[in-house]
Amino acid sequence: MSIPATLLELAPRVKSVCVMTGAGVSAESGVPTFRGTDGLWKKFKPEELASVEAFLRNPEIVWEWYSYRRKLMENVRPNSAHLAMAELETLVPDFLLVTQNVDGLHREAGSADPVELHGNIRRNHCQSCGEDPGSEFKLEDGHVPKCPSCGGLLRPSVVWFGELLPMDEFGRAERAAKRCELFVLAGTSGVVWPAASLPFTAKTGGAYILEINPEETELSRYADGIIRSRATEGVPSLLSAFKQLR
Ligand code: NAD
Ligand code: ZN
Repeated sequence: MSIPATLLELAPRVKSVCVMTGAGVSAESGVPTFRGTDGLWKKFKPEELASVEAFLRNPEIVWEWYSYRRKLMENVRPNSAHLAMAELETLVPDFLLVTQNVDGLHREAGSADPVELHGNIRRNHCQSCGEDPGSEFKLEDGHVPKCPSCGGLLRPSVVWFGELLPMDEFGRAERAAKRCELFVLAGTSGVVWPAASLPFTAKTGGAYILEINPEETELSRYADGIIRSRATEGVPSLLSAFKQLR
């Protein structure tokens, strides 16, 4: 695995970086991807559970699935890719970490104020009034927790299929993509929209697009440079290149 030469030329003077991550970055922490081991849970596909319609039809089963996923994530810790990204942030004057992951591992690794485009699985909010009553509410004896303010159904704070992204957060990501000189795509297949529009926004703005992924993706052909490796190798090497060259 090597760092593309054009990127090495850029690294010493880059002032603005935007990094977008996906499930691949957390895979090595042991968080299963949707298409991985929990791709099928009790014969349901994620698409059949992760929507408002599914929730309103059967909130208990949706809660049960999220309780299962929360349990899987209970003991996971950030890996060297999360940590290297948090350190890279301290070397660049303008840096934004944008993630599609809902596991909260970038925050835990020390990224200051990451954009969580698809929410955070550890938080809840009320389906009726939107209030966040805290993360301690859970499914109790099969009963879905209710909102202390309005009595509505509480739900995990993740963005479901068919729902809009949090607009202010997406705006923050778009502005960063527009102004950055280097845009890094790490561990994402780039098929989930509108997140997948961000590299195009960056490219239109003249940024160098770097992909870190062991596999080819839909976005590979638009990349200016590619590190074909796992995130735990590629991101720390990018960090050491920055440290040596700056
Ligand atoms: P995806 O599952 O579509 O793609 C994962 C990508 O990661 C693939 O391109 C794969 O080649 C790559 N990959 C696999 N192992 C890797 C490694 N060790 N290092 C680097 N890359 C690796 O994931 P996505 O693009 O994030 O889209 C899936 C959607 O599912 C997102 O919207 C996300 O919100 C959600 N999701 C989140 C989590 C999480 O929070 N950790 C887990 C599963 C799904
Ligand atoms: Zn409420």
